[in-house]
Amino acid sequence: METPGNLFVVAAPSGAGKSSLVKALLELDSHLSVSISHTTRKPRGQEQNGREYWFVPEPEFRSMIERGDFFEWAQVHGNLYGTSRKAIEERLMRGEDVVLEIDYQGALQIKKLFAYAVLIFILPPSWDELRQRLLRRGEDGAEVIEVRMQNARDEVAQARHFDYVIINQLFETALFDLKTVVHSQRLKYVTQCRNRSQVFAALDLL
Ligand code: GDP
Ligand code: ADP
Ligand code: 5GP
Repeated sequence: METPGNLFVVAAPSGAGKSSLVKALLELDSHLSVSISHTTRKPRGQEQNGREYWFVPEPEFRSMIERGDFFEWAQVHGNLYGTSRKAIEERLMRGEDVVLEIDYQGALQIKKLFAYAVLIFILPPSWDELRQRLLRRGEDGAEVIEVRMQNARDEVAQARHFDYVIINQLFETALFDLKTVVHSQRLKYVTQCRNRSQVFAALDLL
């Protein structure tokens, strides 16, 4: 599918810092918005329906799948997650840039639908640090953390299919790297041609 807006897909093992980085990026960049996914996971302490996720019961999620409401969906750590057409289609068609914070299975499905999507993988600096971050975040019980640490091994092995890899050791450095990827996408010829058409026309390039 072709749209005037850019599509950025950020994936990472749980605890690598994906949500913190995307949140910081959005605060710096008013042309970017994040897609709110649907999930069957229960909300964590501070999470609100419609802010972090649309929290839905599994039967409702399943009927959305059957109606074809999702661009992609996947089972992750035992719960279902999906990006609805509604969440991103209109914004991309209006020319807005959208970021998806989704798992690698969803990222690879999105790349098939939107060949121009930019896939970014966030790596933790080490396994020890990943575990420390999950523990420090304090949102998940010991069993859930173990499942997430085990799944992390398979997830990081998928980084090779992504366009960019950012190592989130020093937060500010990783944020700068993420901003750079977004910025360079916007400097591509086709994007500049579309967004700066007056300059291109004045230079007889259209
Ligand atoms: P956290 O991101 O690890 O803190 O935990 P979550 O429970 O919020 O997310 C678990 C996993 O599901 C992460 O890998 C998310 O990127 C992924 N996820 C969230 N939303 C979606 C979605 O819409 N589609 C897919 N495929 N994965 C998603
Ligand atoms: P994810 O969305 O990938 O599961 P979070 O953004 O929730 O990860 O980050 C997991 C934890 O690690 C949070 O407590 C966050 O504050 C912390 N964190 C994120 N990036 C860094 C970093 N560069 N150094 C230290 N702690 C970090
Ligand atoms: P290509 O024509 O080589 O596939 O794409 C050239 C550049 O334009 C690539 O960097 C790609 O990311 C971007 N691009 C291609 N199609 C689209 C589109 O429909 N929307 C947006 N936003 N960018 C696109």
